[in-house]
Amino acid sequence: MLGVSAGREPPAEPSDVARTASVRDLSPAELRGRRALVRVDFNVPLEGNRITDDTRIRAALPTIRLLTDAGARVVLLSHLGRPKGKPDARFSLDPVARRLGELLPVPVRFVETVDSDDAVRSTHEIPPGSVVLLENTRFLPGEEANDPRLARELAKLGDLFINDAFGAAHRAHASTEGIAHVLRPAVAGLLLEKELAYLGQALAEPRRPFIAILGGAKISGKIDVIAQLLPRVDGMLIGGAMACTFYRAMGLEVGRSLVEPERVFMAKDLLAQAGARLTLPHDAMVAPSLQAAQQAHPVARSAIPANEAMYDIGPRTAESYGRAIATARTILWNGPMGVFETPPFDAGTRAIARAMAAATGDGAVTIVGGGDSAAAVAQEALESAMSHVSTGGGASLEFLEGKTLPGVAALDQVA
Ligand code: ADP
Ligand code: MG
Repeated sequence: MLGVSAGREPPAEPSDVARTASVRDLSPAELRGRRALVRVDFNVPLEGNRITDDTRIRAALPTIRLLTDAGARVVLLSHLGRPKGKPDARFSLDPVARRLGELLPVPVRFVETVDSDDAVRSTHEIPPGSVVLLENTRFLPGEEANDPRLARELAKLGDLFINDAFGAAHRAHASTEGIAHVLRPAVAGLLLEKELAYLGQALAEPRRPFIAILGGAKISGKIDVIAQLLPRVDGMLIGGAMACTFYRAMGLEVGRSLVEPERVFMAKDLLAQAGARLTLPHDAMVAPSLQAAQQAHPVARSAIPANEAMYDIGPRTAESYGRAIATARTILWNGPMGVFETPPFDAGTRAIARAMAAATGDGAVTIVGGGDSAAAVAQEALESAMSHVSTGGGASLEFLEGKTLPGVAALDQVA
């Protein structure tokens, strides 16, 4: 259960700093009988009209329950997939409405439109304490264009606005950003609040030692995160293919490993800047190809054969990263350590997930960001063993890069 699994309170925010207003700041009178328009992230994977993973639906339940318990009329907006601004039955939210109805003890109505009189009427008709889900916002051309006219139409669907769609908060769309300018109060839902608390705390005032573990395929997608985190962390542990670009920068043989030649210069720069704070894998699991996984063997990083490729960190590295995790108080992880989709190259990633789970048990704050890293944690059934698993891959990366998330910036602030 990403995002909502740990059942722990998010870290407290310093009270003298302005923060994003939360649904918890609203009084019962502001909610009872009123139409709470909630932007959720129900962008779930589908096979036909079967939902293959309902994590995102379950992640929105705490906010929905808070509102139905308070006697609000809950009106839900979401996007699903990329229907390109026109109705497309393959991306209908109808299956999501049915799943939501199974998960909630209250009635869930589905309306096949968004910006229509029917939709507006439904928001008045549903009884207090119940839910209506409207159709995919991306069926409307004004959504991704952030058309102010659409934002004003959407504002007719509620008496107040709650954004709980962390996964879409890095997009300035009509239902995430534009609407917050016309419908007030505009506050964060519980999931969005939790995401901001964990990721924000890690950047602003982490319990130390604070280490970041970064992996994944490409250094290019993570370069701004590395630059943003380097001055804040006590240590940065590198894995994944991006380690190979650093190896190349160190003059090591990388064989057939995935390297970004045009980033080697940047990697050199980062190595010089970081000094001892940046750790690269000491050893590597290599093989002639992914298809020849049965020939996988560990080698020292200085001994990668010219006709083989690194597909995972080696066992010595997994062990020493595990020890570093055990001594840290805050651990932020983004990006798998290897090609975790293909055993045995999942070993490094699994070792990190287990070490983090153990650290959580010992009282450390553990945060996982990134779609593939979250999938790896889910594969190990360790979601509930982490302090926080972010529900937003792209959004969490942009947040960690220090960028403002438009969907958050547009919300009310409280002193
Ligand atoms: P996240 O979604 O968690 O941010 P990324 O998308 O950056 O992670 O990277 C995940 C991908 O990186 C996975 O598909 C994995 O197979 C790939 N990867 C990791 N290590 C290697 C490697 N050594 N060689 C090739 N691909 C790798
Ligand atoms: Mg990814």
